[in-house]
Amino acid sequence: MATRNRRPRACTYCLCPDADACVRVQPPAHGGAHVYAHRTCASDRRVPTLYVFTDEPAAGPR
Ligand SMILES: [Zn+2]
Repeated sequence: MATRNRRPRACTYCLCPDADACVRVQPPAHGGAHVYAHRTCASDRRVPTLYVFTDEPAAGPR
């Protein structure tokens, strides 16, 4: 059930890639898109995160 996509996730607030949380999911009538953000950007705006990613894109020891 977990969806994995390897596309860069751009933060909806600072527009940088590698967002590590999802802050909003649009209704299917609006395309059902998931809106991503950095956890820090979301907390700065007091936006609750729906879920966070644990695969840490581009942040590993490699
Ligand atoms: Zn951000």
